[in-house]
Amino acid sequence: MTRTLFPSPAWPTVPVKGEDAAYPVHRVFCVGRNYAAHAAEMGVEVDREAPFYFTKSALTILPGGQTFPYPPGTENFHYEMELVVAIGSPAFRVSADAAMDHVYGYAAGFDMTRRDLQLAARAKQRPWDLGKDVEGSAVIAPITKAADFGAVGDQRISLTVDGEVRQDAHLSDLIWTVAELVADLSKYYHLAPGDLIYTGTPAGVGAVGPGAVVRGEIDGLDPVELTVGQPE
Ligand code: MN
Repeated sequence: MTRTLFPSPAWPTVPVKGEDAAYPVHRVFCVGRNYAAHAAEMGVEVDREAPFYFTKSALTILPGGQTFPYPPGTENFHYEMELVVAIGSPAFRVSADAAMDHVYGYAAGFDMTRRDLQLAARAKQRPWDLGKDVEGSAVIAPITKAADFGAVGDQRISLTVDGEVRQDAHLSDLIWTVAELVADLSKYYHLAPGDLIYTGTPAGVGAVGPGAVVRGEIDGLDPVELTVGQPE
């Protein structure tokens, strides 16, 4: 073992339903504009040219069910409810037909976003990191194994804030399917166990402030919840 000057950060882990062992997170990939109605509300055109991605540090992973402080540097902190895909085996240049063999399971998650900073960056053609790579922003519920979830079909995906429905769609509304996303990402990355893919959010995104209770549900998966805390 290499002696280090200070302790290496521990990789975040996600509980898995029916397993004693947890899923250690390696990387966090996120898909942009993967529901037509959300792309429209963001004022951008939908195309089937190619999916696009941004990443979050694995250290932004936050297990659901917690209170987390309102982040610094934003006045427009948004929820985005998403289906999260957990990769279970190495995948490089795989076809869409073979892609699903590499999916370990699924979870409900939030891609929490500093929308003001994301849009300012977008307008200036700058990277989105300050808007998206927010500490504690990759919220995730326990993973359900793919075999226990079954096929991704028309399961409902929805989100409430303080009990009021804000997002309500179906996984069949995904522009790029899970198989297509895994295959496409594997053209650029040696996907590995521990890689998570946040597959994009439906329409209805919006701001939340301190005290808000955000809850997301996908049929067949554990719900994900976040309470927005006071700013530090
Ligand atoms: Mn998102």
